[in-house]
Amino acid sequence: MSGQHHQLKPISARPIRTPAELVETGLIAAENLADIDAVAKRYAIAISPAMAALIDRNDPADPIARQFVPDAAEMKVTSEERQDPIGDLAHSPVEGIVHRYPDRVLLKAAHVCPSYCRFCFRREMVGPQGLGTLPTEAMTGAFGYIAGHPEIWEVILTGGEPLILSPRRLGEIMQRLAAIDHVKIVRFHTRVPVVEPDRIDEVLVAALKASGKVAYVALHANHPRELTPAARAACARLVDAGILMISQSVLLKGVNDNPDTLVALMRAFVETRVKPYYLHHPDLAPGTSHFRLTIEEGRTLVAGLRGRISGLCQPTYILDIPGGYGKAMIGADGIRQVDIGCYMVSDFKGGGHAYPPSD
Ligand code: SF4
Repeated sequence: MSGQHHQLKPISARPIRTPAELVETGLIAAENLADIDAVAKRYAIAISPAMAALIDRNDPADPIARQFVPDAAEMKVTSEERQDPIGDLAHSPVEGIVHRYPDRVLLKAAHVCPSYCRFCFRREMVGPQGLGTLPTEAMTGAFGYIAGHPEIWEVILTGGEPLILSPRRLGEIMQRLAAIDHVKIVRFHTRVPVVEPDRIDEVLVAALKASGKVAYVALHANHPRELTPAARAACARLVDAGILMISQSVLLKGVNDNPDTLVALMRAFVETRVKPYYLHHPDLAPGTSHFRLTIEEGRTLVAGLRGRISGLCQPTYILDIPGGYGKAMIGADGIRQVDIGCYMVSDFKGGGHAYPPSD
């Protein structure tokens, strides 16, 4: 972050994409240009106008800047980090599909995003130099795969960012899925209501609906300030149209790794009619060690939410097991067996209770 506020260009209506633009808009200091040029050669950069406007340039530790402004620390790759941290490739039977669990698939329709998160778990695949949008033939192959597997109950559109596709293309995808009887649920994993809220207009909302299918939108947001009035209005347009919303967040050092921020984030979701769903432990993506906390630190933070906020606000803390083995719950262990048929249960203040009670 730069302290040179006197000659800053105003936030423009288009995304910031280059290191030079980051300097011009005061998001990095000119003396850091060479370092950030190196990052730009390696990973995609984009900061949408909505996110650029949200950054407090007077706060060197601004949690929004930390998520989107590239940092020289991204060039440090540690030995445990992996190109494909959650093992998508090991479970990709055809282009664009990841089939990790029996009853659901990921459909990766677009590998581009309106803003690139610096901690992205798919950072080796997303971006202008990445896999782009799934070509028509590959899309046809993906629908053929889904149609040929009657065990697929849910299709999860992810990427990249599925809601960057035009409403026309999204509508086509929904119509293709509507023709597959065994698919009942279509879920969109998106950051658009936060990073580009105006994109969620009536036409796009209508495109997400298809007769006979239930549409869910999983909103990715990590800090309560991301739930701006514009973002809340975008979510309201989805929810008012009958689309169910759930959240997903990543536990990130310097962004949300304190109890007050997590409480405010989860409450902001619930107030926006978004049910808190997943809180992800950060994945082992290359150049992201500056975002990672330990599992123990994460468990302590999550345990602290118990008793402090309503059950409605509680997310499930999970780890994607490296290598593609799926998710594991790593939240506080509230019960442990002490004898045959006897357990010790912890209450939210840390007190222990026998179950069944001995008296
Ligand atoms: S929106 Fe998702 S896919 Fe895109 S950069 Fe962020 S984490 Fe990665």
